[in-house]
Amino acid sequence: MTAALEIRNLHVDIEDQAILKGLDLTVKQGEVHALMGPNGSGKSTLAYTLMGHPDYEVTQGQVIFDGQDLLEMEADERSQAGLFLAFQYPVAIPGVTLANFLRQSINAHRKAQDPEDPGMPIPEFRRMLKSKMDMLQMDHGFAGRYLNEGFSGGEKKRAEILQLAALDPKIAILDETDSGLDIDALRVVSDGVNALRSENLGVLVITHYQRILNYIQPDFVHVMLDGRIAESGGPELAMQLEEQGYEWIRGQAD
Ligand code: ADP
Ligand code: MG
Repeated sequence: MTAALEIRNLHVDIEDQAILKGLDLTVKQGEVHALMGPNGSGKSTLAYTLMGHPDYEVTQGQVIFDGQDLLEMEADERSQAGLFLAFQYPVAIPGVTLANFLRQSINAHRKAQDPEDPGMPIPEFRRMLKSKMDMLQMDHGFAGRYLNEGFSGGEKKRAEILQLAALDPKIAILDETDSGLDIDALRVVSDGVNALRSENLGVLVITHYQRILNYIQPDFVHVMLDGRIAESGGPELAMQLEEQGYEWIRGQAD
């Protein structure tokens, strides 16, 4: 069955101030959606809300993930159900290799499904990791690096995309707005998304910049203005935004 993330009439307050004001958006497995919009329009608020951050208060609306009420689930339950949020993971773990970290993540998921699960056998884990790294065209030696120790921006992204591939979620939300991606990091994210979409991953790429869409060809583009989706379309919408900015949409919405 194809899983979907369905956001319906979502209203979210931060410190009693309305930030999301009736947002509707559906992302299905295998689809790549780009969520764009000017700074302050509420894009990261959506990502934090989906992740279950306690400061973000849902006052109205629903989020259904794969038939379940996402807003009733704890953050780790959301992840175990197959929703991946890039920034929910630790930024630095001294002395832990990327491979060990990935194995712990996978085993935590397996234990949540079945408390008796002894974890993925190491030979199976090694094979799985190698095949994912091949798919992502990554050097196998990368998995032996200590997590985030001296990682460049591009390497951090590479680790994140490898984690995404290893956890094999149904839908991933990548908030790329504030990370100041250089070209190397952009390519890592784009190549990863392009490889994983063919494995039936659904992706919501949140971005302020049009340029990531030169690498990822989204199926759908949405523009967020003042806490709502003001316009949706295909890849041509991103081109139009590149040429004309956001003002014409603002004019239409008034
Ligand atoms: P975007 O990601 O589109 O740039 P954000 O979701 O970060 O937008 O911000 C939307 C609005 O919410 C902004 O006006 C911002 O100032 C406000 N906001 C975001 N996070 C917080 C917070 N933790 N506390 C108070 N206001 C916040
Ligand atoms: Mg943001």
